[in-house]
Amino acid sequence: MISLVVPIYNEQSALSGFWQNLEQCLAGSDTQFEAVLIDDGSTDSSWAAIKSLANDSTIPIKAIRFSRNFGKEAAILAGLRATTGQAAVVMDADLQHPPALIPQMIEHWQSGKIKVVEAVKRKRQDESALRRLGARLYYRLFNLSSGMKLDGASDFKLLDRAAVDQYIALPEVGRYFRGLTTWLGFEAIAVEFDPPSRNAGESHWGAGHLLRLARSTIISFSSLPLRIVTWFGLAGLIFSLGLTIQTLWYKWQGYAEAGFPTVILLILVMGSMILLGLGLIGEYIAEIYREVKRRPLYIIAQSLPSPGDIDDTDRKQG
Ligand code: UDP
Ligand code: MG
Repeated sequence: MISLVVPIYNEQSALSGFWQNLEQCLAGSDTQFEAVLIDDGSTDSSWAAIKSLANDSTIPIKAIRFSRNFGKEAAILAGLRATTGQAAVVMDADLQHPPALIPQMIEHWQSGKIKVVEAVKRKRQDESALRRLGARLYYRLFNLSSGMKLDGASDFKLLDRAAVDQYIALPEVGRYFRGLTTWLGFEAIAVEFDPPSRNAGESHWGAGHLLRLARSTIISFSSLPLRIVTWFGLAGLIFSLGLTIQTLWYKWQGYAEAGFPTVILLILVMGSMILLGLGLIGEYIAEIYREVKRRPLYIIAQSLPSPGDIDDTDRKQG
């Protein structure tokens, strides 16, 4: 059996179209499926839509409802925890991850060795030039600092049970599905797809949200930024040694006042570099703080079938 994991946040307008398409694409398959739908604290009628889907779907549905919006990463984790299949497919509910690709992903997985099948975006569509540039820049930075190549990566992935179990067992609170599944290092293969535009509703990621995501993912995968500060410090030290010699020399020669602009510049440059370094250290401390608090990633308010019907040890908390 294969489990489908679908995080859902305010997708009332997209859900039924998505489900129809999904059922169509999987109808011909002789594999068994189950679906885990996670309502990530939607404020629209997504939960009602999920419940009605659960009533008359040909694919058995488990549903989880968070007490509030905890974010897609939390939803993916909760979904994976609820899966029982030999493999799990994580996908979006807005048809930007075409269900038609699933049979192909399953084929790769069934061929043996492959533990992770990643759907990779062929090109980024209907996004503004600025957003595309931002994405390129971010993946560059991520690659440079963590040594992992994620260009074009999406959250549309098939994971073998082994990979699912390892992912669930990871201890960290701050999670990045795309990065961590690569980090696990299982035998992986990529299948390409052209991401269509959303079938309904709109994307949930504003520019501010994306910036925060970029910052926290890079910080949690790399300490290179901290080391860069050290390098700047070393370069500054060497520079200041040279400058000290020059300053002393000028003083002995008797023309000391001329360097006033240099003093101002040095104070400005050094001051801002110190502040930048402090801020960066602060970012890491904030991340450490978030980790040591060990708060659950999500709180479940409701689930279907109701808790008595399914084995839910370990599922109350993230
Ligand atoms: N999503 C979620 N929680 C959130 C934001 C999004 O579960 O806080 C879900 C959303 O319902 C969709 C998927 O994550 O199924 C991708 O979201 P979206 O389409 O907005 O992102 P984009 O495709 O623009 O990257
Ligand atoms: Mg989308």
